Amino acid sequence: RAKAAGRGRVEHFSDNLAAEIADSIQLESDLREAIDQQQFGLVFQPQISVRRGEIVAAEALLRWRHPDGERLPASFIRRAEETGLIVEIGDWVVAEVAKTITRWADAGVEQRLAINVSQRQLDHVAFFRGLRQAMQNARAPAAMLELEISETLAMNCNEDVIDAIAALRRDGATISIDDFGTGYSNLARLRELPLDRVKLDPSMIANVVESTEARAVIQAVISLVHGLQYEVVAEGIESSAQAKVLGVIGCDVLQGYAVARPMPEDAFIAWARNRDDRAAVSA
Ligand code: C2E
Ligand code: MG
Ligand code: MG
Ligand code: MG
Repeated sequence: RAKAAGRGRVEHFSDNLAAEIADSIQLESDLREAIDQQQFGLVFQPQISVRRGEIVAAEALLRWRHPDGERLPASFIRRAEETGLIVEIGDWVVAEVAKTITRWADAGVEQRLAINVSQRQLDHVAFFRGLRQAMQNARAPAAMLELEISETLAMNCNEDVIDAIAALRRDGATISIDDFGTGYSNLARLRELPLDRVKLDPSMIANVVESTEARAVIQAVISLVHGLQYEVVAEGIESSAQAKVLGVIGCDVLQGYAVARPMPEDAFIAWARNRDDRAAVSA
């Protein structure tokens, strides 16, 4: 009987595995179709300065407008990375962001836009050539661009990539470390990287209101990052209590649902104008 049960388990396991493989093959072909049919879009989430309350940048976040409904990156980015399709998708993001920078400037909303990049995109130094070309084609200045690189990626990328990032930064782009606190940072490397800002991962700031210890950890991280002359951005702020505490302990910039959710372009522009107007009234 034990043997039968054992066999049952094995079958169950391989059924699951077969289903998983079928799903991931389906997802890959759906992603190829999404590229062909241009089903990708971007939404924009503002970042505001703690001190003055003004918008300092917006992060461009990828959305898949699938015929069955909108899909979030968590459901497809990993597969796109595994299959290398992220390179093509990322090229689209870069071109779209470059055009958006110019379109917004023409509409009077001059805003730096941040893009996220994956390991697979940085594997090719051609990525940086493409980025430069896209910015030139759109007549978007490098100063309006921000590049977000995850902590793990930043700690592991090779010297050619670091050089390319440094060159982009010399041209005026802002360079950020994303998801800080989810990997292992080598402090010497953190100091040597061509960087402007560090984005604290939501998991780091989750208990900041309730927990004295969590607050102490973040305070130490903030003073370390400030010591390296980088700006600190807190990400995933969901309550005004969190926003307040983070402001008090020295965060420079806030991003999260408590400020605004990621929005389609039109909504973002309306939000930004409205905020400017309010700032002008209170000034
Ligand atoms: P990320 O770069 O760390 O982006 C922040 C994520 O947190 C976004 O999720 C954003 O919508 C979400 N978020 C913002 N504020 C809050 C909050 O207050 N609470 C909570 N719970 N979440 C909040 P999203 O848009 O689903 O993106 C997930 C991840 O997918 C991003 O994490 C980024 O790593 C990746 N991603 C997004 N767009 C792109 C892209 O164009 N290219 C690449 N390679 N990766 C991308
Ligand atoms: Mg990001
Ligand atoms: Mg992040
Ligand atoms: Mg990320």
